[in-house]
Amino acid sequence: MEYLLGFDIGGTKTEVSLFQLNTGIGQFNLSREDQTTDIKLNFSKRMPTARDDGYEAYLKNIVALTHSALEENNLSIDSIDGIGLGLPGSVHPQTKQMLNGNTHMLIGKDFVSDFTKALNFKKKISANNDASCFALAEALCGAGLKYQEETGILVSSQQSIGVILGTGCGGGLINAGKIIEGGKGGGGEIGHFTLVTNGHSCYCGLNGCAEQYLAGPAIESSMKIRQKGSNKIINAEEIFTLAKSGDALALGVINDYKEKLADFLIALNNIFDPHYFVLGGGVSKQNLIYESLEADLSKKMFVSGRTPSIYQHQLSDSAGGLGAAIMTL
Ligand SMILES: [Zn+2]
Repeated sequence: MEYLLGFDIGGTKTEVSLFQLNTGIGQFNLSREDQTTDIKLNFSKRMPTARDDGYEAYLKNIVALTHSALEENNLSIDSIDGIGLGLPGSVHPQTKQMLNGNTHMLIGKDFVSDFTKALNFKKKISANNDASCFALAEALCGAGLKYQEETGILVSSQQSIGVILGTGCGGGLINAGKIIEGGKGGGGEIGHFTLVTNGHSCYCGLNGCAEQYLAGPAIESSMKIRQKGSNKIINAEEIFTLAKSGDALALGVINDYKEKLADFLIALNNIFDPHYFVLGGGVSKQNLIYESLEADLSKKMFVSGRTPSIYQHQLSDSAGGLGAAIMTL
């Protein structure tokens, strides 16, 4: 039996998942070097990240979370074959340190080696950006298999882009089953691509970043501007519901959003020419955003041929942890 632990570490919560390989009853099929392995999600447990409590407290808490997950499954740390971490920021490919992101207490820390020592884990711990982990899981176990079924192009020959449209906007680039990390770990940071020249200022210090237009909170601010001073706060989900019922303000907001999303995917397509895009995060659950998106893309492709497919995420919310775990293989 092979056991893997995958951690999905976000700004608000940290989740550990225990995966078991080759049980014959796994709910995920991993396609790797054109061989299929089944993976079973045995167990998940989460805790608040509590980023304001600082790094030392976090390290102590995540070690305790790991021990309790192992105990509840009657396993010891020595029975774990690999540990992968999905971190909320760019991760340097060699040092594995997180270089930026909104969870400041992890930035520049030697978290991978501190965690390895604290757990007394004798194998290597892998780490990568959380959106890259999502893109990897979808490429090898989700959207990639769907694309292979539809086109006959094998997972091992595919190029794809995972796009997270949630509280923030992030992404991951996958080439032939591997994450493109970039020279310093900034590969796939598509949320900070300039989508609007001289646009809204972003926390990263730049202006007009895609995240300022495509993340859930952007939909809410856009509605607020149109409501002209009304104090009624409505969230992105409610705005989508209103748009579906024909509300003019909400429809305006969503149409604007769809236009920006199309511009974003058109730019990414002309740079990377992926076989497909797979969208994740809260906003990706709204079917409305997919309407006419592939058609818009097809009109503005520099290289003609098959328009990239745009898939809604195929895996459950465990994709981040799954991607972190399979990265260790
Ligand atoms: Zn930015």
